Amino acid sequence: MPTLQEVAARSAEFDVVIVGAGPSGSACAYWLAQAGWSVCLIEKKTFPREKTCGDGLTPRSVHQIIEMGLEPEVAKHAHKYQGLRSFGFGASLEMRWPEHPIFPNYGYTITRFNLDGLVAERAVHHGATLLAGVEAVDLLDAVPPTTGALSGAAGVIVKDKDTGTTAEIRGRYLVVGDGQNSRMGRALGTTRNREWPMGMALRGYYTSDRHDEPWIDSHLDIRDTKGDVVPGYGWIFPLGDGRVNVGVGLLSTGGAWKGVNTTKLQEYFVAQTAEAWGLNDETCEGPPTGGRLPMGLAVGPRVGPNTLTIGDATGTVNPFNGEGIAYGYESGRLAAGALGEALASGDSSALNLYDERMEAAYGDYYKLARAFVRLISEPKILSVCVGAGLRIKPLMNELLAVMANLMSNDNRGPAEVGYRAMVRLAHAVPEEAFNLLLGNPLSPE
Ligand SMILES: Cc1cc2nc3c(=O)[nH]c(=O)nc-3n(C[C@H](O)[C@H](O)[C@H](O)COP(=O)(O)OP(=O)(O)OC[C@H]3O[C@@H](n4cnc5c(N)ncnc54)[C@H](O)[C@@H]3O)c2cc1C
Repeated sequence: MPTLQEVAARSAEFDVVIVGAGPSGSACAYWLAQAGWSVCLIEKKTFPREKTCGDGLTPRSVHQIIEMGLEPEVAKHAHKYQGLRSFGFGASLEMRWPEHPIFPNYGYTITRFNLDGLVAERAVHHGATLLAGVEAVDLLDAVPPTTGALSGAAGVIVKDKDTGTTAEIRGRYLVVGDGQNSRMGRALGTTRNREWPMGMALRGYYTSDRHDEPWIDSHLDIRDTKGDVVPGYGWIFPLGDGRVNVGVGLLSTGGAWKGVNTTKLQEYFVAQTAEAWGLNDETCEGPPTGGRLPMGLAVGPRVGPNTLTIGDATGTVNPFNGEGIAYGYESGRLAAGALGEALASGDSSALNLYDERMEAAYGDYYKLARAFVRLISEPKILSVCVGAGLRIKPLMNELLAVMANLMSNDNRGPAEVGYRAMVRLAHAVPEEAFNLLLGNPLSPE
């Protein structure tokens, strides 16, 4: 790997500087480098590195892995699984991933420790320069934003985490994919729409004899020591390497956000599933760690005169299921497409294509997802829907296709028809009225 000084000396040549080598930044770097553009990818940690996550790849993520030519390498470290098993309010259901013209009918679980470095390496293999162990600490020559846009910047000021040395890394364009806290995104002027949902989640690893089961489990009711349902959901994802990833999540809508402690929630969930999965102090691999899930495109703006934000830094997590890896890859790829057009034409206004394509890809879907999240944040509604829904397999199979965003554009199946009807409704009325129409009685966070 080149030194910081060597890269800084070549800095004038970079077409694009990308901050963050998570799914979004590395995918963006891969697609740009593969198209022949010169890219500098800056990552504050060194690979392999831990990243708090459920480690679950849905067919949507797997599709992007395949597109980047990474499936054989990923498969060596991953566990293949066939679908989702849901539990809640006395019922349970196994649902295979649907057949789809584009997305595979399987997913993988793989630790982010093993996964993220592979994507960054793939970008390097195609010519990207990776600066790992180097943190972006400030914008370089920031240009104040106009209304509704990000600031511009000539690049970033970086600091070597080992030596403390600082340097300037310049690029014609700057992409920020620095994750949930997004310090650099905020420096560019992003804010989160606090009226919209936000997720918080926590996970830990346990060794378990059931580490290679072919399903990922989701639990839609977590109960305290008295047996009362508490807000939140839980998951157990078998990793196939002797371990399972056990975690809990919570949404900020529903007024329960501030009252519930995810550490307590994890304790309840582990107690609830301990016997079935062999979870105890001996099998626990260490204290759980947590993070936030900025979702539903709640963070913006996304485009500036020569700047873009991608992945969690622009709130791309799917509110229906908390999935963020696929949307990191996809938003990184969409950004790379718009940047390629701007670079090829010499016209930076092509960056607006990124905004347009993000809206086209996710605008309607996430509007529906935000309303759905509000609806199921009401425990009474959740228990009725889950209790009844899990007993009707065809309905749940359709819902799985909607929630994992695995519908087909040309398919006239019930999931697609139902979804399109909801989208037409969402188009016809403003968001708040749409929430009310769906019967949601809750006020925002
Ligand atoms: C507990 C939990 C469970 C989850 N489970 C799942 C799941 O099972 N499946 C799923 O699809 N999604 C899951 N998610 C969501 C998923 O982890 C994120 O949506 C995804 O990682 C977003 O990718 P990203 O590239 O935008 O950001 P990140 O993955 O956060 O990557 C950002 C990168 O930028 C680096 N960075 C940050 N600041 C700087 C800086 N200043 N300079 C240089 N580098 C910097 C970081 O070190 C990091 O490597 C989960 C999230 C949480 C918190």
